Amino acid sequence: MPYVTLEEFVTVVTGDSIEQAVSEGRCLMQPFGCGEPVELGAGDDPEDQMLYDLSWQMTGLCPECQRDVEDIEDEEQANRSAACQSFVSFMTLWSELERDDDE
Ligand SMILES: [Zn+2]
Repeated sequence: MPYVTLEEFVTVVTGDSIEQAVSEGRCLMQPFGCGEPVELGAGDDPEDQMLYDLSWQMTGLCPECQRDVEDIEDEEQANRSAACQSFVSFMTLWSELERDDDE
């Protein structure tokens, strides 16, 4: 069965990669991220910050863009590009697959 990883999906759409973004200490390029440098450990809540840091290493998205993604999931009508919506669907599917592995 063909299986596309999140990493491959991102690379196809943006020409950027999560690995590259993380190794350069920045957010993914648009349309997924903002391409800005990621400041680790800058949040008020250390536990929240740790979660954001972990997510960044998995998704390549800075805390601000992660919040944007959460907003899109909350608001069905969010006016976003098709690529961005696909990304959100993919991430949702991906996290569901991760959950299945735990069973
Ligand atoms: Zn960002």
